[in-house]
Amino acid sequence: MGFVVAVDGPAGSGKGTITKLVGEKRNLVYIDTGAMYRCVTLDCINNNVSYTDIPGIEKVLEKISIELKNENGIQKVYLNGKDVSEEIRKKYIDDDVSEYAAIKQVRDKITPMQQEMGKKQDIIMEGRDICTVVFPNADVKIFLDCSVEERARRRVLQNQLKGIESTYEEVLENIVGREKLNSTRDIAPFVRAEDAILIDSTNMTIEEVVDRVLEIIDEKRKQN
Ligand code: C5P
Repeated sequence: MGFVVAVDGPAGSGKGTITKLVGEKRNLVYIDTGAMYRCVTLDCINNNVSYTDIPGIEKVLEKISIELKNENGIQKVYLNGKDVSEEIRKKYIDDDVSEYAAIKQVRDKITPMQQEMGKKQDIIMEGRDICTVVFPNADVKIFLDCSVEERARRRVLQNQLKGIESTYEEVLENIVGREKLNSTRDIAPFVRAEDAILIDSTNMTIEEVVDRVLEIIDEKRKQN
């Protein structure tokens, strides 16, 4: 087993940005698990399979191939051999991903793939159920929180930088709705693991959060 840092948090909490930076600084392979659920969503939509069509989803899952590759420091996401790094960030994926992610068959497929990734390498993995389900025995467990207003504000800015048009209201509605679905689903609901260290990033800069996470990791490594 490699050294595993598990980070859970809601959309817009900064977990993507922070785990990427921490990974670079401490030589941990960065894994964005949300990208995998986004790939399942894209594959189903491309095959006209709705989230109510369980046999259709099972068929898609039988053949799906998802690869996360680090190319010159940038994470690229490949679905069935095709680079979908940009496509999976589009609004139509945002709108439906939590519906597909709530399905047992989807999680039964994706969770073991994620566990496999932590076997042979040192990783920092971010998502919603990493501390609770995927790696309950991770070396370091962090829950990154942030107020919902600040999260929506950050997402709008992030979208602007990517050239995606969005309003504060629609982003707020999407993240509130998505996280409600994520937190109330039957399987692997999004909850804070009791033993995860809480960091509230609402009034912190990216650098401050990164430093705090590095401190926690370094402390743990000293003990090992
Ligand atoms: O992190 P991101 O916002 O890209 O995740 C997209 C969606 O994937 C989440 O809203 C959630 O429904 C699902 N997800 C999940 N479990 C994870 C990571 C993401 O259910 N570990």
